[in-house]
Amino acid sequence: MSTTQEPMPGVPNVENASTEDRLYTVKYTDHGESHLGVKAPGICADRCEVKDCVEVCPADVWHREDGEVPTIAYENCLECGSCRFACSYNNVHWEFPKHGAGVSYRYG
Ligand code: SF4
Repeated sequence: MSTTQEPMPGVPNVENASTEDRLYTVKYTDHGESHLGVKAPGICADRCEVKDCVEVCPADVWHREDGEVPTIAYENCLECGSCRFACSYNNVHWEFPKHGAGVSYRYG
């Protein structure tokens, strides 16, 4: 007996899709201001060597060169909250996007 389900009509078959293809099915409504930030930039620049935010984010939102403050592509955020809890210095400012903006999942 097969356990494979046929995809629903109109829904992309993501069984063998790449992460990028899967992320493409997510829609983000931009309110024009980031809901993510760094609380104390000096901590990132002077003390942090582990880049937890970069490592944990499934959506490639955080980018950081050694000794620099991260750049944040908040428009790609999935609102999973992982960066907030992963940061070893509790240095991530995180809130839900305002006014109903943010991520919406079109296919469940
Ligand atoms: Fe990435 Fe999740 Fe943090 Fe958004 S909430 S930036 S998807 S780790």
